[in-house]
Amino acid sequence: MARWSSPSAWTKLLHQLVAIPSITGSAAERQFPQCVAGWLKELEYFRRHPDHLTLYPTPDKRSALVALVRSDQVAVRKTVVLLSHFDVVAVDDYGSYADLAFDLDALSPSLSRDAEHLPTLVQSQLASGTWLFGRGIMDMKAGLAHHLAILAEAAQEEMPANIVMVSVPDEEAHSLGARTVAALLLQWRQRWALDYCLMVNSEPIFAQSPDAQDHVIYTGSIGKALAGFYCYGAETHVGEPWSGINADFMVSHIARELELNADFCDQVDTEWTPPPTVLKQSDLRRGYSVQTPFRAVLLANVLLFQESTDLLLQRLREVANRARQAMTEDLLRKLQALPNGVGEHDLPSIRIITYAELRTHIEEYCGPEAVRAQEQQILAQTTTFAHADANRAHLFGTNDPRDNRVQLVDAWAQKATDWAPMIVLFFAPPYYPAVDAATNPTTAGVIQHLKAYTWQTHHIDLKTQHYYPGLSDLSFFYQPSANANALYANLVGVEDDPAPRLSMPIINLGPMGRDAHQSTERLEMQYSREILGDLLRETIRWVLSMPELQTIK
Ligand SMILES: [Zn+2]
Repeated sequence: MARWSSPSAWTKLLHQLVAIPSITGSAAERQFPQCVAGWLKELEYFRRHPDHLTLYPTPDKRSALVALVRSDQVAVRKTVVLLSHFDVVAVDDYGSYADLAFDLDALSPSLSRDAEHLPTLVQSQLASGTWLFGRGIMDMKAGLAHHLAILAEAAQEEMPANIVMVSVPDEEAHSLGARTVAALLLQWRQRWALDYCLMVNSEPIFAQSPDAQDHVIYTGSIGKALAGFYCYGAETHVGEPWSGINADFMVSHIARELELNADFCDQVDTEWTPPPTVLKQSDLRRGYSVQTPFRAVLLANVLLFQESTDLLLQRLREVANRARQAMTEDLLRKLQALPNGVGEHDLPSIRIITYAELRTHIEEYCGPEAVRAQEQQILAQTTTFAHADANRAHLFGTNDPRDNRVQLVDAWAQKATDWAPMIVLFFAPPYYPAVDAATNPTTAGVIQHLKAYTWQTHHIDLKTQHYYPGLSDLSFFYQPSANANALYANLVGVEDDPAPRLSMPIINLGPMGRDAHQSTERLEMQYSREILGDLLRETIRWVLSMPELQTIK
């Protein structure tokens, strides 16, 4: 039997994978792929084919693990790509159990001793013995454990299949691993004469409610944009506040209009995108002063299905319009109520512009060369601008790319004071395109077959959904559901175009768990071990045995 094929060997592998605390950005995240590559190198296949196993570097010197098994028994070029991420989110939420978060043997008994503060459902699942608790166990080391077990079976010729296994870092932050590794997959396709006929990601099933038990397969992945509103008001002294427009007051009106705004909910069949929510709201001044803040910014998460970013930008503009009207009416009412008529003056109208319009305006002043030079200089700064300039705000922290983006908008706005007061609409990274392969013949065929197979073999009603709601790296391996022209036109700074250079049929078929990114993260073992393992193998067998299916190059 292949190395990790028995239930006990698979479970031991899962313990070992979880035990490496590969938190995004940590030293353990860097070591993780080396460690797993070491295990794979012990297999005879990779001793004979050392060039089928590589650690592919990201620009920031982390690495993705990529391994190919090309079966002697499979004459065709058809190859299944198994995709996973090995980074996990931090463990601050575990509190006093943080030291045990990566120890599957120790965490459950410790939680049990102190179980009365846990929700009833968690208590009963803890007591059942069929759920394993630990950071990263469902998101997504169980999926990775299956991929490794299948790769080893193919390597030991117990499963005739061409498999490329890809496991990447940084999925929980910017998906730098997935964005980078596409280039290697393109190289390998040529070098080893492969046709990528299906990519299988194994992110965990996203429960629609706490007690939902649905087994779900996804044909795509939700999109995400980070929308920004930069407000430039008018400064004044606190002794004469009626003479200015406070930027904190401006962004607070935008937050009121944007937060949970149902206009942004996009529907496909019975699925909805969750509404936008504010991730950051701050003025851009550091330190205390009796001058009122006149520059502020708000960043919000926006989720996407099929709507284009042109429509998204239009909705953001509507939010800015309504916020402008509300803040103007609010101000006028308050100014009129002030004693001795001090507030009786005209309010300047607030301009609403896009980042592209602002940048063009500055180019007309300063020339495109000067604009590009300053842009590069600001984007290259690796310390947060709070440290470089005491007058500027600290938003996300050291090395955060969003701080540089906000600083860039701020720099142009301060050169365009002839346009103030103003609201500038912009986008910041990361951007995840929405993707959905439901109408792709291979993906549709896999879904149809698996639903029937799962019912016949396991008496489980496998449900399908279009968009994996939790964000995933599949966003970078299929053609986007909608164009993103408006987003790219207003994305501050330069970002590598994440539109996939590589596109193939995709699915997400993953384990059953609960509470990803929470201290009660846990994996249901019955479905997630034997049944999911069988479904993944059946998927591979079926897709490789269907010669007439279309493969996308
Ligand atoms: Zn994940």
